[in-house]
Amino acid sequence: MTKRSSTDKYLTRHRAHNYPRLIARWRAVAARAGLVMRPFASTGEYKLYTVRSRKLPHTGTFYISAGIHGDEPAAPEALITWAEKNTRLLRRQPLLLVPCLNPWGLVNNSRMDSQGRDLNRVFQNDSVAEIAALKRAMGARQFSLCLTLHEDYDGQGLYIYEIRGNRPYWGEALLKAARPHVPMDRRREIEGRDSANGLIRPVPDMALFEKIGLPEAAYLHLRGCQRVFTIETPSEYGLDRRVAAHIAIISECVRRAAILE
Ligand SMILES: [Zn+2]
Repeated sequence: MTKRSSTDKYLTRHRAHNYPRLIARWRAVAARAGLVMRPFASTGEYKLYTVRSRKLPHTGTFYISAGIHGDEPAAPEALITWAEKNTRLLRRQPLLLVPCLNPWGLVNNSRMDSQGRDLNRVFQNDSVAEIAALKRAMGARQFSLCLTLHEDYDGQGLYIYEIRGNRPYWGEALLKAARPHVPMDRRREIEGRDSANGLIRPVPDMALFEKIGLPEAAYLHLRGCQRVFTIETPSEYGLDRRVAAHIAIISECVRRAAILE
């Protein structure tokens, strides 16, 4: 194995922020797996896409989104890499996938969008056009599994928000699946919330969201999904490890959800 040069590291970083390349990879996956790839909104020079199964039943669809915060590049990179490795699954499991919700942020390595908004705090109303369009793309479906993929610059390991819903909870098993790649974040408090062994199990606090704005995961829970997870990998770890951790969790979630059907 050769040692990586700093140029390689730069290219690796650059690759994960290349939106046209990301979309080209999704086009290839969609063609191979028989999925429908469609723009649902645009922002500045960028189109936003959903990639979905041809038939999306009213119940039993999985929803996975990435890239709502553009400075969290392992998330969109993981979702496309997982999809590229699982075309057979993509053919049979009803899916609504959102490759990247904030392309301007991805290209510019910014949490916020081009207008300085945190798109993960605006789901309470339809004031932001692309989020309103995303909600329309969801339709009235009852998702049976929702994953929103994120990263955290302050993360000291992997942690997961598992919104309280159906039991038994999966969080511990998801952390275990990712452990070969990224260990759990052992902080007792994360982002102002109690955390135990990398797990935060919030009951959505509507009073708080009225103040700070409604995140995507809480919105998905309020729509009725009983399995909503937000995955947070630590940005300080290498990109490949963070991508592998996300993929391990997506795979474990899909395996568990499929068993229950
Ligand atoms: Zn985030």
